[in-house]
Amino acid sequence: MKLATFDAGNGPRIGVVVDGGIVDLVTVNPRLPTTMLALIAAWDEVKGDVAEAAKAASHHALDAVTLLAPVPRPGKAMAIGLNYADHIAESGQETPKHQIWFAKVPTCINAPYADVEIPKTSGFVDYEAEMVAIIGKGGRNISKDDAPAAVFGYCVGNDVTARDWQFKSPQWSVGKSFDTHGPIGPWIVTSDEVGDPHALDIKGLVNGEVRQHSNTKNLVFNVFDQLAELSQAMTLEPGDVIFTGTPGGVGIAMKPAVKLNDGDVVRVEIEKLGHIEATMKAS
Ligand code: MG
Repeated sequence: MKLATFDAGNGPRIGVVVDGGIVDLVTVNPRLPTTMLALIAAWDEVKGDVAEAAKAASHHALDAVTLLAPVPRPGKAMAIGLNYADHIAESGQETPKHQIWFAKVPTCINAPYADVEIPKTSGFVDYEAEMVAIIGKGGRNISKDDAPAAVFGYCVGNDVTARDWQFKSPQWSVGKSFDTHGPIGPWIVTSDEVGDPHALDIKGLVNGEVRQHSNTKNLVFNVFDQLAELSQAMTLEPGDVIFTGTPGGVGIAMKPAVKLNDGDVVRVEIEKLGHIEATMKAS
């Protein structure tokens, strides 16, 4: 199932994406939750009703609505660094023995086709194409065996980074958390529909040029390793957002380095999950 948060002119609603259209869940069944966070939290109880509602005729054509981030304001968004071998090599680093985590604060989450800011206070904004896992039931101390059942679904993300801010501090969270620097979408594809999340082609393009091209099978620490590690420290909650790492080909590693400029169009595509696309806007 593909679940979207959208605005058809009346504020944020949630719906199921079907054949180029969206079924507005609350219109079909007013007893269903009205936000993605509430829907995910109640999923075990409501999934049958959602599946039933999804059989209705769609209320909107996809191109007639504005897609919002599927989870517009998650409780938390965490991201792993240095998690594809080619990106580790281009960064001049050793393969990490341990997972390297940083926060992207929830206010950086952005809609899948919205503009992304090049802030006047940064001299180097860069892209990172990433698969994003959306936590379902979550929990604490999730075992690797239990981790697949803890993921609600997956979407496409761009871990947009202000490189100068990233590297002027020993930890990366501020440089990774500028407003608009966490676009995700276009919708959540539920785990059962994705199947194996570690077999998906992933691409990052700038102005149509393929800069990044890999497959999620190349993750150093896979999604389930990531949940097992992270949940030792913090309770993973429904709707939490996990950026799972970027492949090689980022702008800072090009020779010479190439930053994003006003008007550049950055697109991230992942097999089975769809694509997101942003125009860069200088502030
Ligand atoms: Mg990243």
